[in-house]
Amino acid sequence: MSDYNWCHGPVCHEQPIQSRIRGSGNNKVLRTIKIKLGTEYIRQSIFSHFCNQRCLMDFLNEHKDRIVALAPRREALETPIKVEKEKYESWRYDYNDIEGRPQRVPYQATRTRIIPVDND
Ligand SMILES: [Zn+2]
Repeated sequence: MSDYNWCHGPVCHEQPIQSRIRGSGNNKVLRTIKIKLGTEYIRQSIFSHFCNQRCLMDFLNEHKDRIVALAPRREALETPIKVEKEKYESWRYDYNDIEGRPQRVPYQATRTRIIPVDND
């Protein structure tokens, strides 16, 4: 196993960025970034193959059809839940006060709680 990967970004080597310049004199090139696999964190990460978010997204856009074909989704997935509405006291600001200063006004608010349902 080598201790580095070349970035898989399709246009990584075209980015006019100083870190990609290689060569000397009149033989300079922009080169794909070499990613050192120095830590377990990097080796386990998607960024062991991509030098940055742009290169990752360029790759995903270019190969999206083949990537989703690896694990096709032909129907929606669902997670059973319970929904509870609950009322609580809250505050809003009234900006129409005659003194020109916003006033805190209490009101009854509603919040929605999504509760997981144990299917076992
Ligand atoms: Zn790259």
